[in-house]
Amino acid sequence: MGNIVATLCRSCGFKNEFRVGGGRFSHLTSCPVPAINKETLEFENVNHYKHKDSGQYLFYSDDDLKGDNYNDKRFSNFDLYFNEEGNYCPSCRAKKLAFRITMYVD
Ligand SMILES: [Zn+2]
Repeated sequence: MGNIVATLCRSCGFKNEFRVGGGRFSHLTSCPVPAINKETLEFENVNHYKHKDSGQYLFYSDDDLKGDNYNDKRFSNFDLYFNEEGNYCPSCRAKKLAFRITMYVD
């Protein structure tokens, strides 16, 4: 079970979309999560299974990319937790990026 999540930066207006969690037939091999590429500092939607130990990415489930989650809402995919508010913005680098689930996908 996966989700499509829309982002919006409350500081600079940056927005995009990403997917969290694999589908019904791919969840054992595919676990897409939002991440920051440490080399390019770009936002990427990467497979957590493949990259979790590579050291190449910071994941939005890590505390490093989390700031003040003022509405205290979270969502999760298995043991990965994401905050709805206060996430690192790849554009202005403030921790002002909001995450909202817009769709549930199989
Ligand atoms: Zn921003």
